[in-house]
Amino acid sequence: MALRIFTCRDCGHRMRFSHNHCGKCFARKEAYQQPLLWYTIAVILVLLLVFGLVQWIISQV
Ligand SMILES: [Zn+2]
Repeated sequence: MALRIFTCRDCGHRMRFSHNHCGKCFARKEAYQQPLLWYTIAVILVLLLVFGLVQWIISQV
């Protein structure tokens, strides 16, 4: 993913979404800037969606 949506808090470098460190000064990214957090949120959302779908299917029977 080539999106540069975050700015480094230490050097102002425009950081990519992936990687947990700034590409220029290697400062650690803020927690909300790290891809793992967003992957976790995505997985939780998918699980909720699947769970909701299963509940809906059961309610239709
Ligand atoms: Zn930096």
